[in-house]
Amino acid sequence: MPRPPWVDAIYNRATDLILLVIFLAGLVAVLGLGMNRLAGHRYFTPIRLTILAMMTGFVGWWGQGQLSIATPLAVIRTLYEGGSYAFLLYDPFSLVIWAVTLLGFVLWGRGLFCGWLCPFGAMQEFAHHIGRFLRLPQIEPSQVWDDRLKWVKYAVLAGLVALIFTAPARLDKAIEVEPFKTAITTFFIREWYYVAYAAGLLLLSMVLFKGFCRYVCPLGAAMAIGGLLRGRKWIERRADCGSPCQLCRVKCNYGAIKKTGEIQYSECFQCLDCVTIHDSPDLCVPLILAAKRGRSLQKVAAE
Ligand code: SF4
Ligand code: SF4
Repeated sequence: MPRPPWVDAIYNRATDLILLVIFLAGLVAVLGLGMNRLAGHRYFTPIRLTILAMMTGFVGWWGQGQLSIATPLAVIRTLYEGGSYAFLLYDPFSLVIWAVTLLGFVLWGRGLFCGWLCPFGAMQEFAHHIGRFLRLPQIEPSQVWDDRLKWVKYAVLAGLVALIFTAPARLDKAIEVEPFKTAITTFFIREWYYVAYAAGLLLLSMVLFKGFCRYVCPLGAAMAIGGLLRGRKWIERRADCGSPCQLCRVKCNYGAIKKTGEIQYSECFQCLDCVTIHDSPDLCVPLILAAKRGRSLQKVAAE
């Protein structure tokens, strides 16, 4: 009896799937069991960039595992029009990443996918580092504009969902708002305007930190909505966070920390920068002040 096509799909990609499962299980284990140790590691940035390079190279370009808003839209369309969901099974590589992303929603919110598993997100982070290395001036929208622009991605997502019901034939073109097909699926080899768009977003990221992720990406908006499943507040805070200390808020490149010190998990990409600061006696201002006070008291006691 012939095997069903989805079983064939698994067999055809057996080696890639095994490597992917090992890689993702390792990453989730490290983040789940040793996140604070990782954030405090003196080689944290090179380690993170190595993981992101694997995401781009192995998961993105080699494995073609860049998730896309096309999948949730296809699910909504099938719900609306009826039909089979079997299409989800034909790409087991992406299915594994979706499964881990769903687990990430519960454990950390959107951060696991957007901060660690998205190949194009990783490419933008590399672009940012290149921009910093070249000492390019950095644009940082004011708080007011940042708050406004963050809503654009939800509007883009709502527009795509509306197309399902109003003009489904246009959906394929509209999804190109994601540069993923250009940057990952076709390796930048297609019509010049798609290439210009994807490359332009990467150039933009050299001066505006992950501008596409923060303001435009409809998949990121869907991930933020999925992140509402988050079951816990995983970023530790002190009483001084927000009042008076603002260091983590200022250092968070994603603008995901409010003035009050509260974390806006829907914008948090799990970059761990604030975790590094929180745990470091050399960086966390309340810890530095407490240590200074301790030293002064010791001095007074000794006199
Ligand atoms: S916001 Fe979009 S491009 Fe950025 S990491 Fe998330 S899914 Fe990827
Ligand atoms: S610095 Fe910002 S984005 Fe990074 S983990 Fe902290 S809150 Fe999240």
